[in-house]
Amino acid sequence: MLIRSNSKLIYDGDKKLMQFTCQNGWMGSLVGLAIGDQLGCPLEGKPPGTFEQITDMLPDSFWTDDTAQALCLADSLISIRGLDHTDQLQRYVRWLFEGYMSSQDVAYGCGQTARQAITAFRGNGTPAPVEAATSNGALMRLAPIPLFYAQNLATAIQMAGESATATHSNPICVEACRLYASMIVKAVNGASKSGILDYQADLWQGQPLTSSVDQVAQGSYRQKEPPQIRGTIHIVEVMEAALWAFDQSSSFAEGALLAVNLGDDADTTGAIFGQLGGAYYGYNGIPNHWKEQLVDRALIEYLAQKLFEFRQQPES
Ligand code: MG
Ligand code: MG
Repeated sequence: MLIRSNSKLIYDGDKKLMQFTCQNGWMGSLVGLAIGDQLGCPLEGKPPGTFEQITDMLPDSFWTDDTAQALCLADSLISIRGLDHTDQLQRYVRWLFEGYMSSQDVAYGCGQTARQAITAFRGNGTPAPVEAATSNGALMRLAPIPLFYAQNLATAIQMAGESATATHSNPICVEACRLYASMIVKAVNGASKSGILDYQADLWQGQPLTSSVDQVAQGSYRQKEPPQIRGTIHIVEVMEAALWAFDQSSSFAEGALLAVNLGDDADTTGAIFGQLGGAYYGYNGIPNHWKEQLVDRALIEYLAQKLFEFRQQPES
């Protein structure tokens, strides 16, 4: 029995006491995103059954576009103390064309939808999100939004939907980000796993979730196993895959390995799992040897720390 509490000691079945602080969840979510991305990168693009499953982070691995865009988004929120599509997109332009916030000398792994939206913004200076695609690019980078707005669940949900539309304006992409943000907020605020995953109808009464996302909210992934669970570029499928991995596992490492070993868009399935897994298990729950291998660890931890320090305060 695991008892979770903000800024308090928690007690687990192994009779171990450990510190679970708010900051632990904030740091865990952003670092977890990057570690999931880096863990899955070597498997990206490999269909299930065509590769040997990994049991650890591979040497010389690195994180990709998922983390780079999340760091751009975090930097934007911290710099201007709020969500602004123009500022957000200006940082994505710097990433894509100058290698800003990249683990490599140049931007690595940009998805087609994001590339189209970022390139169009660069050309005309106004946001030009893509509505036709239901790809996963807004969800892979989401964590900074729920972390920044974590003290107000309704605001976090709203801002998560708005953040997607910088590049992805399909309603399925928007709704997937709204749902996943609600779970990350609950996790950093100390909810139990069932408290995070169980359907909360009142959250969606004002603005109902679109049907395919609502099915995920109601636990569609609990009735499926691979190969029905697939970590693909489609945002509903990859969210199901990340939640399946979170639901099936009892540690960050176990869940992250389940997620990336699905193959296909493995880095992104890892990044999406890692945001929630890291928020739930906390920074201290992520294996140290993975944190030691994380590229640009100090930068990521610095931005997570600043998201915590500058998080929007609840209205009094
Ligand atoms: Mg990637
Ligand atoms: Mg990917």
